[in-house]
Amino acid sequence: MNRIYLDHAATTPVKPEVLDAMMPYFTQSFGNPSSIYQVAQINKKAIDDARETIAKHLGANTNEIFFTSGGTEADNWAIKGIVEANKNKGNHIITTKIEHHAVLHTCEYLEKQGFEVTYLDVNEEGVIDLEVLKAAIKDTTILISIMYANNEVGTIMPIKEIGAIAKERGIAFHTDAVQAIGQVRIDVKEQNIDALSLSGHKIYGPKGIGVLYIRRGLRITNLIHGGAQERGRRAGTENVPAIVGIAKAMELAYTDFEVKNERIKGLRDKLMNGILETIPYSKLNGSITNRLVNNVNIGFEFVEGESLLLLLDMNGVAASSGSACTSGSLDPSHVLLALGLPHEKAHGSLRLTLGEGTTEQEVDYVLEKLPAIVQRMRDMSPLYEEFMKNNQ
Ligand SMILES: *Cc1c(COP(=O)(O)O)cnc(C)c1O
Repeated sequence: MNRIYLDHAATTPVKPEVLDAMMPYFTQSFGNPSSIYQVAQINKKAIDDARETIAKHLGANTNEIFFTSGGTEADNWAIKGIVEANKNKGNHIITTKIEHHAVLHTCEYLEKQGFEVTYLDVNEEGVIDLEVLKAAIKDTTILISIMYANNEVGTIMPIKEIGAIAKERGIAFHTDAVQAIGQVRIDVKEQNIDALSLSGHKIYGPKGIGVLYIRRGLRITNLIHGGAQERGRRAGTENVPAIVGIAKAMELAYTDFEVKNERIKGLRDKLMNGILETIPYSKLNGSITNRLVNNVNIGFEFVEGESLLLLLDMNGVAASSGSACTSGSLDPSHVLLALGLPHEKAHGSLRLTLGEGTTEQEVDYVLEKLPAIVQRMRDMSPLYEEFMKNNQ
């Protein structure tokens, strides 16, 4: 059976070019970048080059790029580091109800430490209201952290406008751009972003590597104390192969950017519209227009998401319901609930995220299989039976 992978928002395969770029740094070029002999200096140069590549694609300066162990660490550093460094100015944080757990759980932790957090509502598409954001700002607000694009429903936030509001009020603005990278063009200066998180494995790079962009002059505490790596802010011998890998992945993400994303968007629309047209009582979650090019998220009434995933898996399709982190628990997705879906509809949602390797045949296969799978599940549902009885 062919395996069809439609869970690129959870993780992506490492591209062969990325792996090729990384390989020499495991074996031949193994020196410690902090040492002064030549084999080590090659590694220092590799890190510098990687930093430059990342900086270029974000519109940042090289000395504003810091490598971390992933998106989660970058989010933790940004949020804890900014509030710790600015706590003499206030204790209030503004974020949204639909952030990734790396942000939400960090904020909940900070609440226990005495910080006050406002979790902004979103509309049914998953976008915050800028007027509500403005009204939420207090004299004590020291951080606004709002994700660039949502990992479950793919909604893109008005980042430049949020950045402008934060800048005007002198408040630090962090954005988790883990899902957005490679699908939108980012310019941290133009968009008034003070801190931005990235992850390697969501853009066909390795796992366990991420980036935090920190605007020069932003007040933020150092994350890990030790050696002088990452300008003393995040100590520890650098993961050189992974750093080279994330930079290569970033470069490739913005190579043939338009053509690649247009193709994926075309397949996404075919998949999305095909499902909505052929399966009754199905509804798109999120926005039709303001959406990542690779994201499909559809709710099916009278269907339980986890069982749907199992049946899809038996048919060779890897997908997700809610986020990968909430799969396996029975809590409905906090994102879908924030979009206003009732519990049972949040439970019956399916996320299909396409990737660069996704083919039209794969989309056709899902469109062929899914209606029968959904129908089979509905045939076992007492709720559906009752609904059909009442609607005949
Ligand atoms: C995957 C993801 C993260 C976490 O990144 P890791 O590198 O897996 O730690 C954070 N935020 C969003 C939006 C994500 O999709």
